Amino acid sequence: MKLVTTRSELSKIQETGLKNNTIGLVPTMGNLHQGHLELVKRSLQRTQKTMVTIFVNPKQFGPNEDFEKYPRTLEADLLKLKELDGADNIVVFAPQSTLEIYPEGFNTTIEVQGLDNLLCGANRPGHFKGVTTVVYQLFKLSGADMAFFGQKDFQQFKIIEKMVHDLSLEIELEMCPIIREPSGLALSSRNQYLSSSEREEARLIKETLDHLKELFLENREKALKKREDILFHEPRWQYLEVLDGSHLTEVSAKTNQVVVAGAFLMGDTRLIDNILFDL
Ligand code: AMP
Repeated sequence: MKLVTTRSELSKIQETGLKNNTIGLVPTMGNLHQGHLELVKRSLQRTQKTMVTIFVNPKQFGPNEDFEKYPRTLEADLLKLKELDGADNIVVFAPQSTLEIYPEGFNTTIEVQGLDNLLCGANRPGHFKGVTTVVYQLFKLSGADMAFFGQKDFQQFKIIEKMVHDLSLEIELEMCPIIREPSGLALSSRNQYLSSSEREEARLIKETLDHLKELFLENREKALKKREDILFHEPRWQYLEVLDGSHLTEVSAKTNQVVVAGAFLMGDTRLIDNILFDL
């Protein structure tokens, strides 16, 4: 496994170690857990070389969000990656400074309009512009043929998919399933902010999504009414939506895949989750 921390090291390695290989990209903010590692494993299966990026992207954090306290654990992350089968085919790009991604004077924003004003986008203004800008930059810097993202950030995936389509980017995307704790709680670097009782209570997130799915399959009206009741009685839900999974619009007669998605505020910690199902 190789670690590079600057753009110039990255271009050197592209000329030597990566040339003539298919490249899979796994963008992360580090503090790796099994959810991230499954993306890396998938990339190792599908491509010859895998580039894992570890970069806490300031552009995707709002002014009152957790950019400063976001866990940075590079040494431990590298150890986890080294233990994977096929680790020889991994290049880790962990920029030593934000300037490696956004050089002095960088003044460009990539924005996918329309899909970013609902769900997480409605509560985190500017977040998805930060995501698409860094992901575009990472696509270019890595020269990747494929990129792997988690369903955990479903709206993010849909927005990146639209960016790739609109800008005719030559990269294949794959969305990988959500990895969960035995309680059902989706793994997240932010789970470590939770106390043990909050972590226990957080199982209600996935349970609520599953319950809405069951109700929806039984009776759509009932499910939508239940959703309203939950939002009314539990203000810690920042949003809870049942939408068309292809277009993130209201479910209609044309819908063939449904997403139930929610964001829940557990103390100061914002937890997101979703489930997808076919009709
Ligand atoms: P992050 O480091 O949180 O920006 O996440 C990097 C990538 O890992 C994104 O594509 C996430 O969707 C994905 N990811 C995060 N948590 C999980 C999880 N529990 N299961 C699957 N993928 C995940």
